Amino acid sequence: MTDIKSLTFSELQKFVLSIGFKKYRAVQISRWIYKKLATSFEEMTDISKEGRKLLKEKAEIYNLKILKKETSSDGTIKYLFELKDGNRIETVFIPERDWNTLCISTQVGCPIGCKFCFTAKDGFTRNLTTSEIVDQYISVQRDVGINNRISNIVFMGMGEPLLNFENVKKSVSIFTDDKMAGLSRRKITISTCGIIPGIERMAREIPKVKLALSLHATDEKTRENLIPLNRKYPIKEIMKTLKKYPADNVRRIMIEYLMLEGVNDSREDALRLAQLVRGIPVKVNLIPFNPYPGSEFKTPPREKIEVFQKMLWDRGIATFIRDSRGKDISAACGMLRGKESKLKQ
Ligand code: SAH
Repeated sequence: MTDIKSLTFSELQKFVLSIGFKKYRAVQISRWIYKKLATSFEEMTDISKEGRKLLKEKAEIYNLKILKKETSSDGTIKYLFELKDGNRIETVFIPERDWNTLCISTQVGCPIGCKFCFTAKDGFTRNLTTSEIVDQYISVQRDVGINNRISNIVFMGMGEPLLNFENVKKSVSIFTDDKMAGLSRRKITISTCGIIPGIERMAREIPKVKLALSLHATDEKTRENLIPLNRKYPIKEIMKTLKKYPADNVRRIMIEYLMLEGVNDSREDALRLAQLVRGIPVKVNLIPFNPYPGSEFKTPPREKIEVFQKMLWDRGIATFIRDSRGKDISAACGMLRGKESKLKQ
């Protein structure tokens, strides 16, 4: 059984040819799925009855099941989806004034085990398939309505996208192909904790999308304590990789820097951070830590974060404070979990 939403456009063309259809049927099917957001072959009324019957025999349209939907006071919507095998993932729709962003998951759980992350507490279950990634976009777009068009996609939900490389790559192709979802490559961001071979592959195989790096510390020891994987991929090597990454002032690399009180928020850290990114076209996003019950870290006071920000601006580094959205429904950075959590603040 072919899983239609797992196919790139050229794969879809091959598939339609293989069942004896003409090539142009791929454009029709793709339009139904990605533009008209159809959930079944029956809806595809410009394909004959027999044609639709054949499609149903040979392929399936995988639709995620919305188990729960929560809307934040700031308009952010968090979706809890159930997968075929009963696993659950979360996806967040973030409306902005002039555009809408979707934060999608790439794995059930996450194998990285970052000390500050709530998602990490459940461990790792499995990679998502391409259609499970792609359908987060389709299902949410259908739910919020076409008038609330999703323009930006960030791979910043549950999981480490570069450890599910093939499926992430295919989903980007589906999101950005004009004959499919047709989003702009510039409006897709892939966030990684620093998988060096993945970043190198991304430069070659997923060009022109934005890269975001979760840095979170300026010395090896501190980062190692926060992100155990730093032992394998240390800051020094990651920075070398970023220097070679094809970025420029239009397409800057986003450096995500979690602000943890007394851990990485000192003036020395700001100076070291400025030093580390020297010569790399970056934009720094300071993310105030989102606490959860039992978390061992604290969020620095706002003034301290602003001092940190100013120190970077003074050194010519574009630095912004990311105000996480949807905190009241646990939809903020690092709070996603495939379980209905009792976590509420
Ligand atoms: N694995 C990828 C994608 C996850 S993106 C990555 O590491 O980049 C989610 C972002 O939220 C990451 O920058 C992550 O470090 C950050 N984050 C995790 N826990 C957080 C928390 N409790 N508060 C704020 N940000 C958090």
